[in-house]
Amino acid sequence: MLVHVGLLPLSSSCLPSLPRLPRLSSTKHRTFAMAVVSEDPVREWILSEGNATQITRISPVGGGCINRASHYDTDAGSFFVKTNRSIGPSMFEGEALGLGAMFETGTIRVPKPFKFGPLPTGGSYIIMEFIEFGSRRSNQSVLGRKLAEMHKAGKSEKGFGFEVNNTVGSTPQINTWSSDWIQFYGEHRLGYQLQLALDQYGDSTIYEKGQRLVKSMGPFFDNVVIEPCLLHGDLWSGNISSDKNGEPVILDPACYCKLKWT
Ligand code: ADP
Repeated sequence: MLVHVGLLPLSSSCLPSLPRLPRLSSTKHRTFAMAVVSEDPVREWILSEGNATQITRISPVGGGCINRASHYDTDAGSFFVKTNRSIGPSMFEGEALGLGAMFETGTIRVPKPFKFGPLPTGGSYIIMEFIEFGSRRSNQSVLGRKLAEMHKAGKSEKGFGFEVNNTVGSTPQINTWSSDWIQFYGEHRLGYQLQLALDQYGDSTIYEKGQRLVKSMGPFFDNVVIEPCLLHGDLWSGNISSDKNGEPVILDPACYCKLKWT
């Protein structure tokens, strides 16, 4: 049996592209820019790198769980913007890198990320391609096939993990690179969740049982060839849609490279 597992590095063949995305940029890597945060960095980006000369309408978009979402109509097309008033840019950095990684596989449709950064009032924003959703649900077998294509296209040279930690909802997801899937899954997935449950509910029985599983799960993977592949990471029905041509679209990822069973 062949198993692909892991998290993608920006330099891997799976994420090779994020730095090549023509318009994605981050103020995180431009410390000089962080010092002078524009009063309205979203508007500023749309009217410069976004190639618009006029924003004609800004409308709220409902349906999200965590952030405020808006549709910006401009003379250069539409943009989708999410803002968060209290969380810094690291959350949207994770989303931008994840969208970029999936976008670059050229398989399933995902919004192209353009820019993320801090807001002058605290909080942060992300700007991405606006996708007009269709009214009908995408064909589920097409969705499954496209996801499989994405998994296969996403290779990782750094093993299992991702360039940054990200969030599932608002729960942190730890993505420290590891060359060993069993160690990665035991420590950063099961172990991390068990610790959160212990901290929150104080139930040491579950914690201890879980830790026993973590220590004894190696044999489950005997005779399994494990390879890393790119995963959406938070794929539930709320993060799946279809475009106006009925093609599946996936959104709001918490990407990492994990094991893929084939
Ligand atoms: P949150 O981060 O708060 O969970 P989502 O990413 O789920 O927000 O986005 C909120 C809503 O905005 C989604 O339910 C979806 O309908 C819509 N949406 C998300 N991404 C796009 C996009 N790129 N283009 C158009 N609409 C989008």
